[in-house]
Amino acid sequence: MFKKITLLVLIIVFLFSGMAFAQVYERSETLYTSGTQWGPPSSWNPYNTGGYAMGTFGLCYESLFLYDPLTNEYIPWLAESGEWISSKVYELKVRKDVKWNDGVAFTATDVKFTFDLAKTAAIGLSPIWNFLGSVDKVDDYTVQLKFVDPLYQELGWYIYNNPIIPEHIWASKSAKDVTSGIGENPVGTGAYLFEASDQSKMVWKKNPNWWANSALGLDPKPKYIIDLVNSSNNVALGQVIMGQYDLNNNFLPGIASIVKGGYGISTYFPDPPYMIAGNTAWLLLNLTKKPMDDVAFRRAVAHAIDVDQIVNVVYGSIVSKADPSGLLPIWDQYIDKALVQELGFSYDPEKAKAILAGAGYKDVNGDGFVEAPDGSKIALSVVVPFGWSDWMESIKVVSRGCQAVGINLAPEYPDYPQYLDSKLNATFDMMICNDQQMSSTPWTYYDWIFQNPIADIATMQNGNYGRYENKEAFALADELDKVKVGDIEGMKAVISKLEKIELTDLPLIPLWYNGMWSQTSNAVWTNWPSSAEGSNHYLAATWRGYWNMTGILMLCDLEPAK
Ligand code: MG
Repeated sequence: MFKKITLLVLIIVFLFSGMAFAQVYERSETLYTSGTQWGPPSSWNPYNTGGYAMGTFGLCYESLFLYDPLTNEYIPWLAESGEWISSKVYELKVRKDVKWNDGVAFTATDVKFTFDLAKTAAIGLSPIWNFLGSVDKVDDYTVQLKFVDPLYQELGWYIYNNPIIPEHIWASKSAKDVTSGIGENPVGTGAYLFEASDQSKMVWKKNPNWWANSALGLDPKPKYIIDLVNSSNNVALGQVIMGQYDLNNNFLPGIASIVKGGYGISTYFPDPPYMIAGNTAWLLLNLTKKPMDDVAFRRAVAHAIDVDQIVNVVYGSIVSKADPSGLLPIWDQYIDKALVQELGFSYDPEKAKAILAGAGYKDVNGDGFVEAPDGSKIALSVVVPFGWSDWMESIKVVSRGCQAVGINLAPEYPDYPQYLDSKLNATFDMMICNDQQMSSTPWTYYDWIFQNPIADIATMQNGNYGRYENKEAFALADELDKVKVGDIEGMKAVISKLEKIELTDLPLIPLWYNGMWSQTSNAVWTNWPSSAEGSNHYLAATWRGYWNMTGILMLCDLEPAK
């Protein structure tokens, strides 16, 4: 009898120890995420903007401010305040009682160091030195940025998009290490600490000494955040339904029926378009080639595309049709509605045909497709990367619409590197592109569209891949940059002129708003952001740059499920 009991106890102890081992990360204390990491985590360098592990910037390293795109408000973060004390001097008051996660105090020295570093190492912040003169530390908690020629909109973007780094760790790094080092053992000020990583995941552990706990009363609920490397869409959809992911930021086809199906899965909006619009999907046209260099031809293309078909059939209504200006819903106040009414376009095949005919495009050889006004044959392609299934389906709609009005346009699916190469070197005819994410200012949108100067031989890197040349538009985009943040009327006045040029010349064609894909499971965590009254209206996204757009606040509002 005694022996049997001993054996039973041993078995129970063994089972429990086994369970304890298997559950190092207690499920009820852990937030599982996916949708950012396309390969094993391999960098914790916050300046490796395209490649750092999920959460490096936002969970570990932090910015001076957060920005809330849904309210158009800045939220003081490492900075307690930021104020223009003269037309060219911006004074930052840095928060007291903030510590780096190695225990060293965070001060104005670190902020000055971060800005100064951008002068010697090529990081995302570096272009600020095109208009910044000096950074002066006034005292341990005050920094003054002294500008030569203040670009207010651009500064407004940097203050929530640039990670502040510790001088005592980074001062000894070489410029090469700053830009391309892997940044192991990250020392940040943020709510989470590096815990572990392997081929399949990144694990962050809650920082018990996070400054915002006492300063702002903020307490992120998950003890662990485990970000899983992306699997296929179909596998991910299954894992969401099973409650294995708490937050998934991948495009999951068919999610609308899952949301409606009683699986405990929610999205920001309970009804179409379900997702917050994150960026605009444009049809880019290569203006260095004929007949895309002809505005009449471009306008005919714009009228030939049945975007509703893309929205409803390809996407199952989880995206919405773009305004002809392409400005995102968060920028609705800047859309000049009268102008769009006058100059905007919509699906109208007959109008497309009439525009083509009026501009001299007609089918002279009887093959069903128009020839150019000079009689030359037109044979064009529209490309997206192979495997991007939603975009692949979308360009079939684009191609069919164009063919129906007599434009010989075929869909093609090169591998991503080839797609990218044709974009940078302007060898494409037409392509879908959505490079520019939502931000604090439409200036980022127009800076992308009217990126200049046009590179002749070298590649373009930051927009305007169709090589649209218009000095007036370039000057207006620069003028917009000089309007003060918060001067909404001043911004509208310039943006209206930019919209007029865009709608008149159609250097690109806005089609739909790509979603900030976000599906949340209520199995383990609840109180997710939602459009519903009484809910929090934060962004549930782990994408790079999104933690600083209220994602971090979402973590503090989560509640354990019953
Ligand atoms: Mg023909």
